[in-house]
Amino acid sequence: HMMFDQLSAALTEVAKNFGGKQRMTENSIQPALKSVRRALLDADVNLDVATALIDGVKRRSLGKEVTQGVTAEQQFIKAMYDELLDMMGGDASQQSNRNPSLQSPVASLAHSPDFATTNKPTVILLAGLQGAGKTTAAGKLALYLKEREVDSDAVKQMSEEERASTLASRLPKRNRRVLLAAADVYRPAAIEQLQILGEQVGVEVFSLGADADPAEIAKEAVEKAKREGFDTVIVDTAGRQVVDEELMEELRRVKKTVEPDETLLVVDAMTGQAAAFLTASFDSAVGISGAILTKLDGDSRGGAAVSIRGVSGKPIKFVGVGEKTQDLEPFYPDRMASRILG
Ligand code: GDP
Repeated sequence: HMMFDQLSAALTEVAKNFGGKQRMTENSIQPALKSVRRALLDADVNLDVATALIDGVKRRSLGKEVTQGVTAEQQFIKAMYDELLDMMGGDASQQSNRNPSLQSPVASLAHSPDFATTNKPTVILLAGLQGAGKTTAAGKLALYLKEREVDSDAVKQMSEEERASTLASRLPKRNRRVLLAAADVYRPAAIEQLQILGEQVGVEVFSLGADADPAEIAKEAVEKAKREGFDTVIVDTAGRQVVDEELMEELRRVKKTVEPDETLLVVDAMTGQAAAFLTASFDSAVGISGAILTKLDGDSRGGAAVSIRGVSGKPIKFVGVGEKTQDLEPFYPDRMASRILG
């Protein structure tokens, strides 16, 4: 999948404008910026985000001597890459290849207190509108956290040497004992769907049926986790068709009851910049720690991925890239920036 086809085309056009020049000038850069801007807006990148990106690229590019052996085009693309990276939150905790020990996209999971000494499970609350892929994400995240690093496909493909160094620098492994809590009591099939997913990924699902109070379900799930030695609880909360005050109030109540380490909003990449506004409104209503961006496999535009952080201030922590339970990946801004630029 090539994201941002138009952006790639725009960047090819850039080469023409800079042909042979040693320095990017206001004049030579203007047409390039214009096509990039159009490509960003066509990809449904939020207007303010697109404007900030363009300004940043201009600032980084203008007046710079072209480095020996690097074309003006390459330099422009590097500026674009750096801006995209900043925009998507390219700090150390979300880089794929700088410091492997800082790699966890769920930073607070990596830094959460040792379960063995505190007996306090890590609690992850999942929220989102109906159809965003929330229940699926709960199952996927359970599998991801349950899996040991050595079981992942990426690690399996490494040489012995790579493996040894990676594993040494990445301890402790995930290898978590996960409990799923079915607190989506409104959609009739949600509990059953979670139970089926739980069975698929080999994770126990806690439920009190569809008549129980979601905050009570979450609370009892955490108590069960403490009693039985689960170190992680993922709570699947209700989704609705639209954002309403009742949904937000319920989430605040669940949140207050279990004090989650992470509150992640599940949003659909196909909705473009609307996903970014949704993230911002959930954050102001209940306070979230990040987003899980689903259906990235079906999104050829990338507007949501680029806009979410800029609009809401919240990072994307995971991406869903398919319907299968293995189709969840940590979100790495540097990889995404490279993908976007083709
Ligand atoms: P919920 O209402 O938010 O709980 O949504 P579901 O988890 O039931 O998902 C809705 C639909 O989206 C289902 O058909 C899922 O298979 C599909 N889905 C979820 N995540 C992804 C993804 O990352 N990629 C694709 N292609 N489909 C997904």
